Amino acid sequence: MKPMNKPYQLQYKKKTASSDAYIPRGASQVSVCERCHAVYRNKRWYADEKMYDGTVKSPGISKILCPACLKIRDNFPGGIVTLKGSYVESHRQELLNLIRNEEDRARGFNPLERIISVRENGFGALIVSTTNEKLAQRLGRAIKKAFHGEVNYKWSHDNKLVRVDCEKAA
Ligand SMILES: [Zn+2]
Repeated sequence: MKPMNKPYQLQYKKKTASSDAYIPRGASQVSVCERCHAVYRNKRWYADEKMYDGTVKSPGISKILCPACLKIRDNFPGGIVTLKGSYVESHRQELLNLIRNEEDRARGFNPLERIISVRENGFGALIVSTTNEKLAQRLGRAIKKAFHGEVNYKWSHDNKLVRVDCEKAA
């Protein structure tokens, strides 16, 4: 039998794989992320450079890419934040700083909360994609607090993607 002759259903399943595909296999094993240096132990991820240094040299350690680095590599967002309105132009640097600060803060609790990209859409809006929905919600709350705009949240039907729209006129 040729290896190409896989049943259709298998391929279908693979294509619709959920974000669960990003949870590392062998969950009890201690692993480190080669890219961002997050450490996986006791079933959670830690962002701790000292822990990384202490762990990376231990024998038998798995060096992998963490779920956040995989999502960044694959551009597979869990949240999309759109900033619209004239305040984006007049407060661009402030907004970019706020986005970076929120990412740094979130990473302290959970290294899997990361920014994938910040881009402009050519019509004066900024579009921020994040690895998970929590960071997108944090950004929405922080922007509302700082700029008092209108913030709306929309979840996809499977709850795996949240769209956060932040709008303000001036
Ligand atoms: Zn990583």
